[in-house]
Amino acid sequence: MNAVTDESLLAVPGLTWNNRFAALGPDFHTELLPTPLLSPYWVGRNAAMARELGLEEAWFESQAALELFTGNMVAEGSQPLASVYSGHQFGQWAGQLGDGRAILLGEIDTAGGPQEIQLKGAGMTPYSRMGDGRAVLRSSIREYLCSEAMHGLGIPTTRALCVTGSDARVRREEIETAAVVTRTSPSFIRFGHFEHFSYSGQHEQLKAVADFVIDNFYPACRESAQPYAALLQAVSERTAALMAAWQTSGFCHGVMNTDNMSILGLTIDYGPFQFLDAFDPGHICNHSDSQGRYAYNKQPNIAYWNLFCLGQALLPLIEEQDQALAALESYKTVFPQALEARMRAKLGLVDARPEDKTLIENAFKLLAADKVDYTIFWRRLCHFQSPQGREAVRDLFLDRAGYDAWSLQYSERTMSVDIGLKADLMLKNNPKYVLRNHLGEQAIQAAKLMDFSRVNTLLTLLQAPFDEHPAHEADAGFPPDWAASIEISCSS
Ligand code: AMP
Ligand code: MG
Repeated sequence: MNAVTDESLLAVPGLTWNNRFAALGPDFHTELLPTPLLSPYWVGRNAAMARELGLEEAWFESQAALELFTGNMVAEGSQPLASVYSGHQFGQWAGQLGDGRAILLGEIDTAGGPQEIQLKGAGMTPYSRMGDGRAVLRSSIREYLCSEAMHGLGIPTTRALCVTGSDARVRREEIETAAVVTRTSPSFIRFGHFEHFSYSGQHEQLKAVADFVIDNFYPACRESAQPYAALLQAVSERTAALMAAWQTSGFCHGVMNTDNMSILGLTIDYGPFQFLDAFDPGHICNHSDSQGRYAYNKQPNIAYWNLFCLGQALLPLIEEQDQALAALESYKTVFPQALEARMRAKLGLVDARPEDKTLIENAFKLLAADKVDYTIFWRRLCHFQSPQGREAVRDLFLDRAGYDAWSLQYSERTMSVDIGLKADLMLKNNPKYVLRNHLGEQAIQAAKLMDFSRVNTLLTLLQAPFDEHPAHEADAGFPPDWAASIEISCSS
C-alpha cells in the first residue's frame, strides 16, 4: 500500500468533506488507500454531474482531478475506506463479501444534499477475496453510461461522475485494460450490510447501521412506534417503485443479489444489465445466469424475495415476526399501483379507469407474441394521433388483426383525452434513446482504440433521452443483427 504524506494530500477547491459512514467505526469498514494506476487518461467526464457536486469546471479538467479520480492522490479531508457486507448470491447465502474493488473516498456537501464519492476498480481491499480489485474499461464505460441513462429516464440510481482509463493489464476471459469509474450516491449501503451484521450475530452493529440509515435517510421512521419495521416498509415501498420503473422501461439488471440491492431503493452495481430490444418477457440478459433467476419478468418477485431477506436480517430489531411480514406486504400494493401509474403515463392516459388493466395486458401480449422492439413501439405510439404515426406503429406487428383490435380499444379509451396533453405526457414517458447493448459496445470498441467521442455522444443523448436529437436518429433505430450475439456476463 502506498504511503500518503501531508504533501501528497490534494486540496480540492470548493469541496467540504464529511465522513459519516467512516464515523460508524472499524466494525463497518477498513480504512485504506486506493492503489495507484500509472499514467491514467480521461475516458469520460460528466460535466452536468460535476456541476451538481459543486466541482469547479476548470479543476475538473485538471491533472489533479484525473489523479484523484483514479485513486493516485487522496483529497484532503476525505477518509478512504472499503465497507464490509454479506449477501445472498443467486439465491444462496454467500457469507461475507464487501467492497472488493470499490473504495469510498468520503462524503461531500452539495446543493442537493450530501453525496458519497466512491472509486470502483481502485485496487484490492481486505474484501477482494479471489479478485484483483480492478474493473475493466468495458464494464466501467457501461456503468458510467447506464447510471446517467437511468437518471435521465427518471429512474432512481447511483450516479457516475467520470471514468479514467489506463494501460494496466487486467486478466478476465482475455486480457483487458483497467479503468476506474467514480460513482456517487447519498449512500452505498446495501441489504447485504444488514444481513452481514444480523447473521454474524453482531446485533449492536446491526442496530447501529439501521439507526444510521433511519436518521440520515428515513427520518420519518423514527416517529413510528416500531422504527425498524417502519424502515422495512419504507424500503419495500421504494424498492417496489424501483421495480415498476425497471419493468416499464424494459430494464434488466442481471444480478439482483442482495448485496446489489440499495437500501435507498436505487439501481446499483451495473454489471450484465440490458435494456430490452425485442420484447421478450423471459429475457435473460446475463450469460452467467444459466437458470434465468434474474430474467426480466422475474425481477419484481426477486426484489420481493430480497426484501424478505432484509426483513429476516432485521428480525433481531423488529422482534415481532408479524410486524416484519406486515411491513413487507406493502410491496404487494405499491408495486402494481406504481406499475399501472407508469404504464398509464406511457399510454398517455391522464386518469385511471378499470378497463386500463386489460388495455395494458393486451399491449404486452401483442408485443411478446411478435417480439416487437420495446422502446421503438412506445416512442412510435406517441404519434398515434396522425394517420402516418398510426401506420408506423402498425408496421411493427405481424399480427395485424390482433394489433388492429388493440388499436381500436386504445383509440376509444383515448378519445376524450386532450391531444396536446396526451402527446406531451407520452413524449416525457417514452424515451427515444436507451443504452442498448450494441450502442454501449460501439462506444467500448472505439474507446479501446482511444476514441472516446462515442462515450461522450451517448452520454449527451442518454442524459436527455426524451428529446429528439435529430442528428442522432441512427442511435434511436433498431439494433443491428450482430446485437443479438453480444454476450454480457458477470465478468467485469
Ligand atoms: P458484483 O457481482 O460485481 O456486485 O460483485 C460481487 C462481489 O465480488 C463484491 O463483493 C465485489 O466487490 C466483488 N468483486 C467483483 N469483482 C471483483 C474484483 N475484480 N476484485 C475484487 N472484488 C471483486
Ligand atoms: Mg455488487
